[in-house]
Amino acid sequence: MDTAYSTPEHELLREQVARFLAREVEPHADAWEREGRVPREVLRRMGEAGMLGLMFEPEYGGGGADALTNLVFAEALAASLCAGFVITVLVHTDMAGPHLHHAGTPAQKARWMPGITSGRTITAVAITEPGAGSDVAGLATRARREGEGPDAPWVIDGSKLFITNGVLADLCFVAARTGPGRHDISMFAVEKGTPGLRVGRALEKTGWRASDTAELFFEGCRIPADHLLGEEHRGFQVVMKNFQTERIALAAMAVATCRRAIGLTLEHVKVRRAFGDTLWAKQVVRQRIAMLDAKVRAARQYLYHCAWRVAERHDWSSVVQDVSLLKALAGELVNEVTQGCQQLHGGMGYMTGTPIERLWRDARVLAIGGGATEVMLDEAAKRY
Ligand SMILES: Cc1cc2nc3c(=O)[nH]c(=O)nc-3n(C[C@H](O)[C@H](O)[C@H](O)COP(=O)(O)OP(=O)(O)OC[C@H]3O[C@@H](n4cnc5c(N)ncnc54)[C@H](O)[C@@H]3O)c2cc1C
Repeated sequence: MDTAYSTPEHELLREQVARFLAREVEPHADAWEREGRVPREVLRRMGEAGMLGLMFEPEYGGGGADALTNLVFAEALAASLCAGFVITVLVHTDMAGPHLHHAGTPAQKARWMPGITSGRTITAVAITEPGAGSDVAGLATRARREGEGPDAPWVIDGSKLFITNGVLADLCFVAARTGPGRHDISMFAVEKGTPGLRVGRALEKTGWRASDTAELFFEGCRIPADHLLGEEHRGFQVVMKNFQTERIALAAMAVATCRRAIGLTLEHVKVRRAFGDTLWAKQVVRQRIAMLDAKVRAARQYLYHCAWRVAERHDWSSVVQDVSLLKALAGELVNEVTQGCQQLHGGMGYMTGTPIERLWRDARVLAIGGGATEVMLDEAAKRY
């Protein structure tokens, strides 16, 4: 056990996830990367194995686990060399699903949660727009009631950009402006096939290639009144709350990627020879890897500390500060580590499809998505 928070159950979960990856993911990762997709069947098998929604309520098929156990799962999953697969799952379990978990009524959970935990209903969360990314309160997509009274349906107009699982998802949690105030934003559950929802093509991107990232268009998209998630105008607060779960998952991806990169690099430098000896025989190489590893070990302990603070329900503002600092740190560190490790692989590390090249390419977005580094630092700084 390598963190103060680890338990024997956590170790069993790590082993279970590692077995699943070895059997169901790693043999297919290259094909999924080429095809730009993650097959639904593998997600259903994860659901059958109880891996989709560890923190959701058991009555809806979830695991009822705390934030630490959920982190163990995310970190174990992110040891995969197929980050496109990892983000497909973590968006579903840690970024989209929590919107229903935190804000859904019992009726809404009864309707959608069993599909989510079993992998029959894949989810996405749509906040970013062409004109608003970091500045969530600047979003322009609007939802208005068609008629009077609480049963009047909602009509959504606008568009969303960079939506992970946008093509794959059966259910999307959408942020839309519902009032004149800057923070008058509400969340809505929109099912695939709803008239007025158009899914654009999967966008070409540098990394995470197995994951689909799409544009969504809402043109007079009419949804029933009971698809409002949480209170009207309170969506901004819900988005901010869920960002903490999301950012811990992204930091877990970063830390796991760092560890994988260091592991690959150790294997490489111990056999690769130059100037009459292995690269490992050169002090500068050994020290460089050890320094990177020191930073990763420190970041990993901070990651677990943040999840522990969430699990223990510490003062929320200081938790947000910690998680923001963690996301900034991990997002930058994974870029430093993957680039440093790639350097030690020489020209081979620049060849498309080598493991270290993929880790380096996939790492880039971790300093941008889910809160760019600068935004995270500002989020923390305003709480000093
Ligand atoms: C592969 C991928 C998947 C994604 N998946 C989703 C998803 O599923 N759902 C979703 O809603 N969104 C998703 N996003 C969007 C992502 O969260 C945003 O890209 C991110 O929040 C940054 O927003 P932006 O791209 O509009 O950049 P901008 O807001 O335009 O910012 C551009 C850059 O400016 C800098 N910057 C911004 N604000 C400040 C500031 N205050 N101070 C200093 N510098 C600043 C940062 O360096 C930032 O990277 C995804 C993005 C990518 C690339």
